[in-house]
Amino acid sequence: MKVIEHIKNAKGKTLFSFEILPPVKGESVQNIFDAIDPLMEFKPPFIDVTYHREEYMYKKRENGLLERVTTRKRPGTVGICAAIMNKYHVDAVPHIICGGFNKEETENALIDLDFLGIDNVLVLRGDAIKSEGRFVPDPAGHSYASELLQQVLELNEGRYMHEEVKRNPTNFCIGVAGYPEKHFEAPSLKSDLKYLKKKVDMGADYIVTQMFFDNKKYFDFVDRCRQNGIDVPIIPGIKPITTLNHMNILPSIFHVDLPDDLVDELDKCKDNAQAREVGIAWAIQQSKELMEAGVPVLHYYTMSKSQVVKRIAEALF
Ligand code: FAD
Repeated sequence: MKVIEHIKNAKGKTLFSFEILPPVKGESVQNIFDAIDPLMEFKPPFIDVTYHREEYMYKKRENGLLERVTTRKRPGTVGICAAIMNKYHVDAVPHIICGGFNKEETENALIDLDFLGIDNVLVLRGDAIKSEGRFVPDPAGHSYASELLQQVLELNEGRYMHEEVKRNPTNFCIGVAGYPEKHFEAPSLKSDLKYLKKKVDMGADYIVTQMFFDNKKYFDFVDRCRQNGIDVPIIPGIKPITTLNHMNILPSIFHVDLPDDLVDELDKCKDNAQAREVGIAWAIQQSKELMEAGVPVLHYYTMSKSQVVKRIAEALF
């Protein structure tokens, strides 16, 4: 079922959902089941599975020539989605990205997802790979999420590449990303919202936000979206802090601010166990306020720490 149908059927009740990462290459799929099992009692209608593209580096060979070495740390997004639907009978939402794909590969991947009975995709640009430093599109691929979105919309109309006649249409429900603290490359929130509105006007069905730790940022963002005519559901993404070094890592990787009160509490912690308790309490407070404000879904970034998300969900659902 589509994410927007789940939201409609909930009739204003806040739903619980979460995002998982495919296991590191070589690990068993059981790791994923172990991460999902403790959260099933909170009846997630859908589970997101991230996509991780291939990285490459150049290594010097014995003959002095440079060799391009590629690695993919977390393959398996499509397989994990199929395994989730098979085992839990819950909708899986694969993330699909522009980076590392040409348009034909994207089309073929979407056909696979359609054949597997997957009804939803979260359409993203993807981040830069470490060796490139800035996002570089595939020469025959997409530069922005809106271009990838266009391809999915065309497929939903039965318009395939290199085909003159329309064929079997897919029927994907399409989510896109939104950034309450603006995307780090955008010169201003106004500019970022212009492109977000473009994605929604084109046909995106819902938005999932980047993590934020100050609800005011989310509420202001939703207000500005509504003022700009963005009228689709805006699902807040919540990341519980679980270690002391999240204080530095999260702002630098995800370009988000931590409120002073949260930093003060974390500063008092002597170890990760204490920081985790602060993070859980903060996420519960955040979630309660968002729930009271009537958000459609509380969507948790588990980073495979499902016991932490379980503690939060126990306090709420
Ligand atoms: P876009 O919408 O393309 O925007 C990227 C930037 O370009 C923004 O600054 C925007 O303002 C600007 N822009 C957009 N269109 C135009 C235009 N036409 N002209 C000029 N500027 C433009 N990454 C992964 O690799 N795998 C994942 O699984 C993954 N999951 C994510 C899930 C969520 C909920 C979120 C919020 C992010 C996720 N990401 C993931 C990270 C995401 O790929 C990055 O944040 C990426 O840098 C931007 O993606 P986007 O889809 O928002 O890009």
